[in-house]
Amino acid sequence: MRSIEHWIGGASVAGSEYTTVYQPATGEPQAQVAVGGRSEVDRAVAAAVTAHRSWGEMSLSRRTKVLFRMRDLVERHEGDLARLITAEHGKTVEDARGEVIRGREVVEYACGIPELLKGAYSDQVSTGVDSYSLRAPLGVCAGITPFNFPVMVPMWMHPISIACGNTFVLKPSERDPSASNLVAQLYADAGLPDGVFNVVHGGKAAVDALLDHPDIAAVSFVGSTPIARYVHERAASSGKRVQALGGAKNHAVVLPDADLSDAARQITSAAYGSAGQRCMAISAVVAVGSAGDELIELLDREVAAIVVGPGDQDASQMGPLVTGEARERVITAVDEAERAGATVVVDGRGLRVDGHEGGYFVGPCLLDRVTPGMSAYQQEVFGPVLVVLRADTLDEAIDIINANPYGNGTALFTANGASARRFVRGVTVGMIGVNVPLPVPMAYHSFGGWKASLFGDTHIHGPEGVSFNTRGKVVTSRWPAQAETSPSDLRFPTAT
Ligand code: NAD
Repeated sequence: MRSIEHWIGGASVAGSEYTTVYQPATGEPQAQVAVGGRSEVDRAVAAAVTAHRSWGEMSLSRRTKVLFRMRDLVERHEGDLARLITAEHGKTVEDARGEVIRGREVVEYACGIPELLKGAYSDQVSTGVDSYSLRAPLGVCAGITPFNFPVMVPMWMHPISIACGNTFVLKPSERDPSASNLVAQLYADAGLPDGVFNVVHGGKAAVDALLDHPDIAAVSFVGSTPIARYVHERAASSGKRVQALGGAKNHAVVLPDADLSDAARQITSAAYGSAGQRCMAISAVVAVGSAGDELIELLDREVAAIVVGPGDQDASQMGPLVTGEARERVITAVDEAERAGATVVVDGRGLRVDGHEGGYFVGPCLLDRVTPGMSAYQQEVFGPVLVVLRADTLDEAIDIINANPYGNGTALFTANGASARRFVRGVTVGMIGVNVPLPVPMAYHSFGGWKASLFGDTHIHGPEGVSFNTRGKVVTSRWPAQAETSPSDLRFPTAT
């Protein structure tokens, strides 16, 4: 079986232990991935510390030269990266291409690092005194990432971190690890010096070793809320800077004045793309007033027509879930909602894909008349399940969203600007769409949720990513033209 090894100091490093990587479309083992622990992390951090001595001193123009080459290589290998994602994650190849493009856009943003790191200069802040501020790199940074975007989410982190002059250790998801090794190879081909970008595979043992390592300055995490909370607490308690992005329950509110056909199409794409395994997937609809019945009819038509199949077949619109456990979780959530009184409008629980009976497939599920007390609403199901709640007014819909513990993304469908404005100002959510169902910010804005969807102060990539990956310095300087003769003055200095 193919082995997926660690990448440390510019070379492949064999693991001492391995775990199996499955093919979600068949349920068959397809590779084994190394499982690292403290010794692999120590080795990777040592390589990153050594590399930082020269990379942190590298001129902006030499750093950006590598990033421009990397940008081209990611574009050239878009198909290779997408096929690796599909084989291990299960999403369709076209969907996987989308995540590679969105990841590449962060590399493009990082190519502009000379502009982003430009400090500020104040001439003559006091007589004969000037002051300037700059952003310095942190040292070694770590990234710990989830299975659902094996290329894009790590790219939210490492291009900016590296562009800022840091070196990086990535611990990707053990479910779909191969793409990270190809990214490491592309960095090497782009001319990135050995040890600047390292990959340690594995699970909790590798994560804990990163969180505790005294030579790691900052940790970026993306994954589920319980692990995000844990990572935030443990990394912060060892003095690290940390941003930990967690799970989500993203609501789409549909007002009666919206174009309901358009809303149904947009919501269907956002709920079932990648089989609902996106942190920005719409998983709950709040239908306001008279919108409800017609919207359900339109959604029923759209959802029932979704073609489910292996991600590498052109006809497939939706692939399998990532694991058999994920499939069971989805089926249990729908069973429980049905028992609690929800109406199952589209039922994907019994779906079988011919020739792929062992695959982790479940068809799209649409549930109506769900209430906030039901577990299908309270949990992050993270599968192709869309629940519809009913509300009488926009304010009631906003209250439902704000009572939810998550605050990653949300969307409003309306034809009324005043309603949109009230919604945007009223919801306690980090990323908001107006007639846009998946409001994932472009690379030059920052990405982040509120409440249980993000622990830490900064959002990821964009300008906040640059702040997270650097530390400020302010220099106040004075160059007297001739020896000064004035006596010592012990008063607190003020500008003169
Ligand atoms: P996960 O939390 O299980 O795993 C994320 C990472 O943490 C992986 O690298 C994994 O190896 C590691 N990990 C798992 N258990 C651990 C433990 N006990 N101790 C230390 N490390 C551990 O998440 P997942 O299932 O891979 O990904 C899906 C989740 O990620 C969903 O909740 C989704 O909403 C979330 N997500 C959030 C965002 C966002 O931007 N907020 C983006 C993508 C995914």
